[in-house]
Amino acid sequence: MMAASLSHKTRAMRLSQYPIQTTKETPAEAEIVSHQLMLRAGLIRRLSSGLYSWLPMGLRTLRKAEAIIREEMNRAGALELLMPVVQPAELWQESGRWKEYGPELLRLKDRHQRDFVAGPTHEEVITDIARRELKSYRQLPVNFYQVQTKFRDEIRPRFGVMRAREFIMKDAYSFHADAASLEQGYRLMHEVYTRIFTRMGLQFRAVKADSGPIGGDVSQEFHVLAASGEDAIVFSDADEYAANMEAAAALPPSAPRPAPREPLAKVATPGAKTIEALAKFLNIEPLRCLKTLLVEGDGTGENAVVALVIRGDHELNATKAQRLPGVASPFRMADAERIERATGAQAGYIGPLGLKCRIYADHAALAVADFVCGANEKDMHLAGVNWDRDVRNYVAADIRNVVEGDPSPSGKGTLRLARGIEVGHIFQLGRKYSEKMSAVVLDESGKEVTLYMGCYGIGVTRVVAAAIEQNHDERGILWPEPLAPFEVVLVALGQQKSAAVRERAERLYAELSGAGIEVLFDDRDARPGVKFADAELLGIPHRLVVAERGLAAGRLEYRHRKDSESVEFPVDEALAFLKDRLGR
Ligand code: ATP
Ligand code: MG
Repeated sequence: MMAASLSHKTRAMRLSQYPIQTTKETPAEAEIVSHQLMLRAGLIRRLSSGLYSWLPMGLRTLRKAEAIIREEMNRAGALELLMPVVQPAELWQESGRWKEYGPELLRLKDRHQRDFVAGPTHEEVITDIARRELKSYRQLPVNFYQVQTKFRDEIRPRFGVMRAREFIMKDAYSFHADAASLEQGYRLMHEVYTRIFTRMGLQFRAVKADSGPIGGDVSQEFHVLAASGEDAIVFSDADEYAANMEAAAALPPSAPRPAPREPLAKVATPGAKTIEALAKFLNIEPLRCLKTLLVEGDGTGENAVVALVIRGDHELNATKAQRLPGVASPFRMADAERIERATGAQAGYIGPLGLKCRIYADHAALAVADFVCGANEKDMHLAGVNWDRDVRNYVAADIRNVVEGDPSPSGKGTLRLARGIEVGHIFQLGRKYSEKMSAVVLDESGKEVTLYMGCYGIGVTRVVAAAIEQNHDERGILWPEPLAPFEVVLVALGQQKSAAVRERAERLYAELSGAGIEVLFDDRDARPGVKFADAELLGIPHRLVVAERGLAAGRLEYRHRKDSESVEFPVDEALAFLKDRLGR
């Protein structure tokens, strides 16, 4: 009976023996609903910026998410392993990312002054394992995965576990003998992710993505759709095209640029440092004012900065700009000193005329004639400026964010915008890591071939927050059932006073938990209002109420978290009734 009583203990819990308090007040530090509710419900606690503890109630949900992920990864034949969080710098030097990764990479020294990193991701370590363990094409394809802590020194940790510095990721890495096998493995992971997020009861969408510092050519992100999402995602209203804003191509305008009509003229624009102020002052549309942004270049002298010119009503897309030759990696805006050195002026009055640095002009900016731009002189702008007539040393590029209504790059329909939370990301890395780290196997003819590689991440801690962001109401969390910490909350009302309530509730608790149902038993000496409010805040899907009046009539009360009315049923049918509701 030992095993049964143990599992009984993990399945069921008495609130009277649970020391964590819920709160009514919305914590001031929390900007978004999921963060507020996770704190109020006592799922997590902040230790320090971007560092969170998972309290028992929250951990139950986290473990459920992990279990779904593990089941689906295992079903797809992936092999679970576990790699260290702390990784030697040598591996990162080998891959080149010791230099490329930037300040998000937490670097540490041990007592011997040797360099290490707190792993933000594990491509280097797994490639090292692959080059040692994999010798022959016969061992391929293979997919290794882990559920492990990551550390990224995020510039702006926020929204609780949504963008933390320490978080848990499921990361998987596949190895293949050729590109076709990699594509197959990638498609399989696409299916697995679709199953995982579907099983979690989430509304999501897969979108084309930028690969970022992980690298590779083909990648897609899985986004949970939610208004508060940090990412803009775009999709065509006429076909399957969907992309992250970072990766969505803006097509060059189809209409040719009008011929110049105005002469070039310098105009005094005292204090007009923003496009808004400038357009107002000159009484013209913002789109005729071109913005010139200076970013750091990857060289010295003239190459210390790069100028990016976009239409005044458009936004710079840093991800696209980052890919241009001459732009520093990681991407940084130029500071005041660099701007002054390159232009002789300050931000707000910069324009492309006379600049010696590289100039990239966005396609949409290139379609504007007789435009206004900075004169590289304080309080001065130029008007009637025209490409080719006045500015010649530029390169055309796509460097802006798409906007609602732009033509879809797929060629069909126009683009629509939505918000999403990135919960998963899959990549075809190709040979990026295996080439640098010499990960090879012997092919059929005994010849060495470099491994093809894919990698696949899910933000396990983030997905919990995302689930709340998508599923809540004014009273609290509305857990999708597969993620709820408990299936049923059993609320006893007035059991201190009523022996009948107490005895019946205890019997139900034993019966339900004995039947393998995950029951949270609210046996506290508390007012009904407090108990109901907590049950709703915690978002437990099924609620069973034992009250004196109902019991006297031989009845119990049931309500689903998503229902607005309770229903009554005979007290002896509790187990059968609940099993039916739980779909068992
Ligand atoms: P983001 O664009 O949100 O910073 P990323 O593209 O850098 O994420 P990946 O390298 O693709 O992230 O990591 C895989 C998954 O890990 C992401 O899809 C996301 O769900 C999760 N993740 C990444 N950074 C964080 C973080 N700071 N806190 C929590 N989860 C994270
Ligand atoms: Mg990503």
